[in-house]
Amino acid sequence: MHVIGIDIGGTTVKGVLLDEQMELVHKSTSPTDAKAGRDAILSSLSGVIGTLTEASETPIRGIGIGSAGRINVGTGVVEYATENLPGWHGFALKSWVEEKYNLPVIVDNDANTALIGELYFNHLLIETQHTIMLTLGTGVGGANYFSGQVVRGAHHQGGEWGHMVLYPGGRPCNCGKSGCLEQYISGSALRKEAEKETGRTFLQGRDVFKAAQQDARVNKVVTQFISDLALVIENISISLDPDRIILGGGVTESRDYWWEDMQDLLNQKGVETEVTPSLYRNRSGMYGAALLASQMRKEVKSHEST
Ligand SMILES: [Zn+2]
Repeated sequence: MHVIGIDIGGTTVKGVLLDEQMELVHKSTSPTDAKAGRDAILSSLSGVIGTLTEASETPIRGIGIGSAGRINVGTGVVEYATENLPGWHGFALKSWVEEKYNLPVIVDNDANTALIGELYFNHLLIETQHTIMLTLGTGVGGANYFSGQVVRGAHHQGGEWGHMVLYPGGRPCNCGKSGCLEQYISGSALRKEAEKETGRTFLQGRDVFKAAQQDARVNKVVTQFISDLALVIENISISLDPDRIILGGGVTESRDYWWEDMQDLLNQKGVETEVTPSLYRNRSGMYGAALLASQMRKEVKSHEST
């Protein structure tokens, strides 16, 4: 039997159909405009699931979904979502998909699914016991994995590093607080700050890093970004002492421009935690979601057999 793994992002819904060996059978992507509201996301989600179910020649065991927001993995309800995903807050995503497709569904936070995918598919599960993941993209996602388990917390916000306050009273955040680290080390924050400094428009984080080589004003922004990121890593390292911190998300794609400087700063600070880039990049979320779906089925099976 096959499983489906889905990653719901702000601009695309991506999905994979995997076989029993977790090998790729089919994939599907649909652009979405999350800002247009819940119906727009659900329409893209239906398109992707429809394509994958049609492509499967064997029955499907279940569907795993990674989504932004605080997700109650038990009920599959989005307990909290910012206005980045209008209409998502409070939505019973698992029930909606289960009723539509009559298949078992598991929903988790997208940084959790990314971390699960990254560890499993890069064969790190054996050598890593304590890992933190930070995804530096439109926002900053995070996930904690300790003693072999994802730590989701008492209020479904375990690993929400993006909304840890880095500068009290600092830049306003769309979560309602001020100074959240998402407003300093996400790709959007980096672009916004470079635009504010120069009056120019930057389409991607990579453009900012490129411009920093020519323009002292942009270089200042990038230097501050690296310093903030190193501080965040230092704080995580000292408080949780993981053996590895994985950095993913769009900003990590441009790491050739900044990784060495960040590593130098971490060495100066005496940070011992190994920091590595995500190897599975933007695929880890949907693969991790598929893995969750495959494990969910096993749990149901073992429960039924006892
Ligand atoms: Zn915030």
